[in-house]
Amino acid sequence: MSANKKPDRRILHCPLCVKATETLARHLARVCMKDKSPEERQAELQRAKDSTELWTRQGRVWDYRELFRWCPHAPTRRTLVQQLLKKEFLIQNLPPDFDDASLKWPLAERGAQSGDAQDSDTDD
Ligand SMILES: [Zn+2]
Repeated sequence: MSANKKPDRRILHCPLCVKATETLARHLARVCMKDKSPEERQAELQRAKDSTELWTRQGRVWDYRELFRWCPHAPTRRTLVQQLLKKEFLIQNLPPDFDDASLKWPLAERGAQSGDAQDSDTDD
């Protein structure tokens, strides 16, 4: 038998005050739902567990191609991606050379409208 088995203490967010806690049932009973019935607290606890599961399955992972579509402004998108990564979100299809790729992609998708030597200066 494994002696150093850690108890499964999932961190959940209180649906009412949005505080993260390892002991949500106790938090609800002592703070946010102290006037409610055990059944009502149990329902909120279940709601928090379901929300966390859904977030883990769907909310944590982003697709860079969607971020690209929703956020066409390259510097803003780069900042957004950096913040998401910093907060441990997972990003699929992140360009391998992400830092400068975020500036190059818009040109590539538009069929390289600019960037060629053509548009330098046409003085007529
Ligand atoms: Zn709370």
